[in-house]
Amino acid sequence: MASIFSRIVHGEIPAAKIYEDDLTLAFLDINPASHGHALVICKQELAGLLDLPPELVAAVAQTTQRVARAINTVLQPEGMNIVQNNGAAAGQTVFHYHVHIIPRWGGDDVLLPWRPGQLSASERDALQAQLRAALA
Ligand code: 5GP
Repeated sequence: MASIFSRIVHGEIPAAKIYEDDLTLAFLDINPASHGHALVICKQELAGLLDLPPELVAAVAQTTQRVARAINTVLQPEGMNIVQNNGAAAGQTVFHYHVHIIPRWGGDDVLLPWRPGQLSASERDALQAQLRAALA
């Protein structure tokens, strides 16, 4: 079955669309974390970052910057979070690649799932070595 976002792409259900090109679409989140919370999706139905070819990653990133600039001009937030969830464990609920643009103002009550942790020197060194090897 098509994702809810594919149904928006094809006009089967309504959305407050704000930008569209051949590869990407941006619209307002139906349950915004803050005023101006927008989503940028690739039109092709692919679940997460690891599924996208590089050209679609680039296309969504460019649309994200374009929409973020418009939000910045119109709403003049004091900051913005760019959030992208992959997998249910990471909070993804719609399995169709999308990037959240969440405008922020000092003192707002937006919650993000993040608590700073600890990384020992030995863990850091081992992880750094593993990742460098995987990326070489
Ligand atoms: P996720 O948790 O997967 O990263 O984010 C999914 C987002 O899609 C949520 O912020 C949710 O509010 C939004 N959303 C889910 N269904 C709809 C819909 O039908 N229309 C719009 N505009 N947003 C939706």
